[in-house]
Amino acid sequence: MKAMFVHAHYDDYEFTAAGTFELWRQRDADFRGRVVVCTDGCAGHHFHTREETGRIRLAEQVESARLGGYEFKPLRLPNGMIPREACLQGTLELYAALWRAVRDFEPDYLFCPPLATDPLVGIHNDHQTVAEAVRRVAYMINVPHAFTPEYPEDETASVPCKVPVIVNVHDSYMSGANACDLAVDVEEVFDTVARLAWCHQSQIREWLPWVGRHHLSPPADLEEWSAALRERFERKNRELGLPGGRATEVFRITAWGAVPTLEDILRDFPPLLENGPGLDQLAQRLARWRGEP
Ligand SMILES: [Zn+2]
Repeated sequence: MKAMFVHAHYDDYEFTAAGTFELWRQRDADFRGRVVVCTDGCAGHHFHTREETGRIRLAEQVESARLGGYEFKPLRLPNGMIPREACLQGTLELYAALWRAVRDFEPDYLFCPPLATDPLVGIHNDHQTVAEAVRRVAYMINVPHAFTPEYPEDETASVPCKVPVIVNVHDSYMSGANACDLAVDVEEVFDTVARLAWCHQSQIREWLPWVGRHHLSPPADLEEWSAALRERFERKNRELGLPGGRATEVFRITAWGAVPTLEDILRDFPPLLENGPGLDQLAQRLARWRGEP
């Protein structure tokens, strides 16, 4: 099985889906996870220059990928550039690059941020843009000529491309407006998630405490960071009405791409949280989307 994670920033993966990917990796020797980051990471710091910040962030993600056994790729536009952090826009070039990235990997599941629809909810510009872009590109994944002006190929010999199930992750920037269909119990890999996130030293110990929107004081060591991460998981569980005491990663199934059956989901996903959300509503939604009686 192949799963792809597309998001805006270095560290979004660790905060939303790394545990689920790690569980997949441990259970299936053939599992391939790929993380695509859509911005250059240059904006989020307060004493490093933009150039230094971009270089540090990239190195931190590469180290996380090495520890976590997943593939990492920055998203490159057709001109080879990585989009700027903080001002990501839904452009033809962004859509083309996402289309290329998904078609190159042909994942079974594609994870991305959710689209905020409530105008009262806070957003991060780059998260919202990635969510919107993935949604806009989703139908085009198996439209082979959609972006051949940007990525030329033989237009008379098209091969079908698998369309993934597209899954929304939790977004702390729209806290209070998240929902979940699936709560994966990632408690057994909590320490791994903490270590992967700990790779992002310039965020966890410097930028996120400084910017002051993330309930975080600079942790002195991995132990203190693990405690802070634990509280972050607990806060999310409270937000979603999930029982406390277990680290969970939460997901929503969209109809942007292929629409699975509930059986597909239960077969493919790692074990869900006991006492997590009921699956009746999800089953009904999937059946409705599939046009089943
Ligand atoms: Zn982010």
